[in-house]
Amino acid sequence: MRSTYTSVPVATLASGAEVRIPIHEVRGQAGDGPTLGLTACLHGDEQVGTEILYRFLGGVDPGQLRGRLLVVPVANPLAYAAITRNTPLDMHNLNRVFPGGGEGFFSHQLAEALVAHVLSKLDYLVDFHAGGAYATVDYLFLENAEPLSRAFGAPVLFRPPGGYGYGGSTAAYTVGKGVPTVTVELGGGAIDQAPYVRRGVAGIHNILRTIGMLPGEPAAPPRQTVLRTLTTLRPRAGGMLVPEVTALNVRVPKGAVLGRVLSPYSFEELEVVRAPYDPSLTVLVRVTPCRINPGDYGYMIGDLATAETA
Ligand SMILES: [Zn+2]
Repeated sequence: MRSTYTSVPVATLASGAEVRIPIHEVRGQAGDGPTLGLTACLHGDEQVGTEILYRFLGGVDPGQLRGRLLVVPVANPLAYAAITRNTPLDMHNLNRVFPGGGEGFFSHQLAEALVAHVLSKLDYLVDFHAGGAYATVDYLFLENAEPLSRAFGAPVLFRPPGGYGYGGSTAAYTVGKGVPTVTVELGGGAIDQAPYVRRGVAGIHNILRTIGMLPGEPAAPPRQTVLRTLTTLRPRAGGMLVPEVTALNVRVPKGAVLGRVLSPYSFEELEVVRAPYDPSLTVLVRVTPCRINPGDYGYMIGDLATAETA
């Protein structure tokens, strides 16, 4: 057997349904070693991470593995079912309420259970995020494990000013415990996810090789750009976004039109989204025309003038 599956209870809903956290455990047969956690779908509209973990688990060979894997393919089952970023029951962002407990909303209870059953047991964490239902993204968020993050193989990384990024995230908890943490932002959008799934699985394997949990030399990372400035462009007008730049990891000049927000009713142009930096690097894009609301993640654009390039 490759892995054992269990699920742990979080709470019973008013409907009587029980919310449980799914956990696959793979015990390596090649020797003792650390425990590495793989988590996905903290945000329920970032579902490609779940497929990455499914494909990875289907191919991992416990006979080659040292140590142990704890794999949580859906960390927020209610948000997964509803395809929403936030937990529908209380509209909290699960990835801003760690270590949980605290105010005691359902999301806080879920975070507390994830800490108790998964995050507190880890020596390493790789947490998968994505662009959501309509946006596609491709970068790694540097936390406290730069060589490991580089080993994932993404072409673009982001070094947030002041260390790890978001208070209340999984990473804030594990980094606070001194656990090397890799936060992946990969895929998403209403397009074929197969290339991102392949890269995700390969990235996990390369991280496992880098820390000696799988045999073999890790592949050297590609040429990588490390951004120091990464801006989210959130439109002020909602409607139908018609993208003009659809490629990731391409440079565009300042002022270039990235996309246009139109009224889906009158087809009037409500807003033009333009590249803010000279030169700009596309990190999150909309590949296909799609609904957008004011304040949504429209685009994420890096400033290449302040970037480090390896
Ligand atoms: Zn996310």
